Amino acid sequence: MGLKVLIVDDSSTMRRIIAKTLKSLDVDEILQAADGVDAIMILNDKKVDLVLSDWNMPRMNGLRMVKKLRENPDTASIPIIMVTTEAERASVVEAIKAGANNYLAKPFTPDALIKKIKETLHL
Ligand SMILES: [Mg+2]
Repeated sequence: MGLKVLIVDDSSTMRRIIAKTLKSLDVDEILQAADGVDAIMILNDKKVDLVLSDWNMPRMNGLRMVKKLRENPDTASIPIIMVTTEAERASVVEAIKAGANNYLAKPFTPDALIKKIKETLHL
């Protein structure tokens, strides 16, 4: 059975790039959310194997989303990879402390994203 992945980013272009890259993995469902609020709503009734999340988003940013997901026993152990711009890199430490499993800096190559996912999910 393939992976179910949730992509969280306020840029639809970035979501599309990530979704396209995921096609080289055994993925059978890709869900998308434009911010942390949408992501949490989706995760309230869908189980996923991986969350790939942006940092800067309206309504609820990636850091707040990670904190909220970790507070809830149902979502506490979902693997989360933060996909951040170089400028947000300093904040990554904060996200890891809050419970994100890994991070990747934008811009990234498809190979770098795949490698990061495999490393995080031990594939
Ligand atoms: Mg953003």
